[in-house]
Amino acid sequence: MGDGFSVAIDGPAAAGKGTVSKAVAAHFGFAHLDTGLLYRAVGAKVLAGMDAIEAAQSLMSDDLDDDSLRTPAVAQAASKVAVISEVRAALLDFQRSFATRAGGAVLDGRDIGTVICPEAAVKLFVTASAEVRAQRRFAELSAKGITDSYETVLADVKSRDARDMERVEAPLRPADGAVVIDTSDLSIEQAVAQAITVIQEKRV
Ligand code: C5P
Repeated sequence: MGDGFSVAIDGPAAAGKGTVSKAVAAHFGFAHLDTGLLYRAVGAKVLAGMDAIEAAQSLMSDDLDDDSLRTPAVAQAASKVAVISEVRAALLDFQRSFATRAGGAVLDGRDIGTVICPEAAVKLFVTASAEVRAQRRFAELSAKGITDSYETVLADVKSRDARDMERVEAPLRPADGAVVIDTSDLSIEQAVAQAITVIQEKRV
């Protein structure tokens, strides 16, 4: 039980995917990969002057372990490099082998259920209104001392949504068979409980 069991969690920025994914991984004892970090790490290297494709091809796991990847500037840079097909291709094998690891894995991102892991045992699409997501991201950034206004954060969320959904390569959309969880009116506990229930049903 559990060997190679994979859970794909997709959705737009700040919908609660990260929180749900971590909680689900802890609950079931699965490994967790936040695939947004891969694109953020490439975006950060581009901001530092590197070529995007070279950055993706030479990415190391140490590059993911960096608090500065969580800034809005890096998020925007990430969504820009994410439209480049060679960048996505360079990150594919790492994600696929993570997904099939023994003991089970949860991957969260934008294209896990559609491209990386269409055969995942469970696919979830975690979403919320743009306003709710911006409010959450604003609170998160304020707590870290980042002083962007709510309006700036909302504009950032909307522009990333547009770029992620309208791109040709691996656009953000619910995968076939994905269970949609709208967290707009849910607490973290409620969202996590819904996700656990869906996964539990597929494990038996
Ligand atoms: O999830 P996170 O906000 O960290 O992702 C940053 C950006 O990376 C997204 O806006 C998206 O453009 C890109 N991304 C992607 N595919 C993934 C994960 C993230 O294109 N699987």
